[in-house]
Amino acid sequence: SRELAPWNSWSRPQSTTATTPRKTIFSGIQPTGVPHLGNYLGALRQWVDLQDDAAPNTTLIYSLVDLHAITVRQDPKQLRQWKKESLAMLLAIGLDPNKSIIFHQSDVPAHSELMWILSCQASTGYLGRMTQWKDKTANEKDSSEKLKLGLFSYPVLQAADVLVHRATHVPVGHDQAQHLEFAREVANGFNHTFGTDVLIPPETLISPAKRVMSLADPLAKMSKSHPNPKSRILLTDSDEVIRSKVKAAVTDSNDGITYDPQRRPGVSNLIDILYHADSRSAYSSQEELAGDLAGMSMRALKDRVADTVESTVKHIRASYENMLHDSSHLDEVAAQGAERAAKSAAVTMKAVKNAVGLA
Ligand code: ATP
Repeated sequence: SRELAPWNSWSRPQSTTATTPRKTIFSGIQPTGVPHLGNYLGALRQWVDLQDDAAPNTTLIYSLVDLHAITVRQDPKQLRQWKKESLAMLLAIGLDPNKSIIFHQSDVPAHSELMWILSCQASTGYLGRMTQWKDKTANEKDSSEKLKLGLFSYPVLQAADVLVHRATHVPVGHDQAQHLEFAREVANGFNHTFGTDVLIPPETLISPAKRVMSLADPLAKMSKSHPNPKSRILLTDSDEVIRSKVKAAVTDSNDGITYDPQRRPGVSNLIDILYHADSRSAYSSQEELAGDLAGMSMRALKDRVADTVESTVKHIRASYENMLHDSSHLDEVAAQGAERAAKSAAVTMKAVKNAVGLA
């Protein structure tokens, strides 16, 4: 049902018992295009599993981090559309607004406010060593005019996202692990400086599908913003498109199928995808799966990967189409999510401002 529960039926973060510790799960995704298979296997599927397995004293908070999206240039019309599509996708994969707080980051100003306060604590040396900053700026080495402050301070905003909700656990893909380490440093540093325990250093939950690689360049991760659309499988791709992308995936000309990410990154990526996408798989490791595939041709392997991905994506794609056309429901979900997220953040902001002397 599309009915949203009224605010007073919501299980509040504060409703904890003395025996079981409160758990708050926070994660985010940039609304920078339709999520791809890497986003799904590396992060989004885990969001849904955590929601479905959540104990009553767990709060789940999932954000479309639009303020992160504008750290690189975005077309306003396109961004507005992506925000809507991304929200529809979160519902399509199975997030339930009656169980999880789902909201657009820019609807809750406390995220930016805490970011500023944390920016006054964060070391620029530490930020400069972040891999993602180094990767994203590799092509603009000689033009510091072009490098934007927002991209540099991306991890500070990410720390604020997590800390403002006092998240205890953050499910992310492998590429975000370093940023989470930074968030812990910031929380500990803040608590130490102000003699408080207001901020909670969060634990990282890395999905078993650590890194899904690009189909066009298996040494790079699959990403929404890569210019080559054949490098990723979108959760909205038709069966035909999925099949043609998998068929065109870069592999090698060695005989047989073996799992060796160092020497055979393309084939190993396909085995990884097969292993993680097939949730009913009876195999306990990629090596074991590869053992059973050993005598297969590359073509047969690709067919099998396409079949598995098609069946993973099918129900998501159908549900997405329905969600996208229900604009008033999407608006309602976003408004209710923002109200709940603002309440969660307000508790922290009060304590933070008090600790710093701003209030
Ligand atoms: P962009 O290319 O626009 O930077 P992205 O594809 O890297 O986007 P994000 O919005 O930055 O995606 O990340 C959303 C979540 O998906 C994060 O938890 C991230 O760790 C995870 N993720 C992104 N790419 C992959 C991947 N290739 N494999 C596994 N997890 C991934």
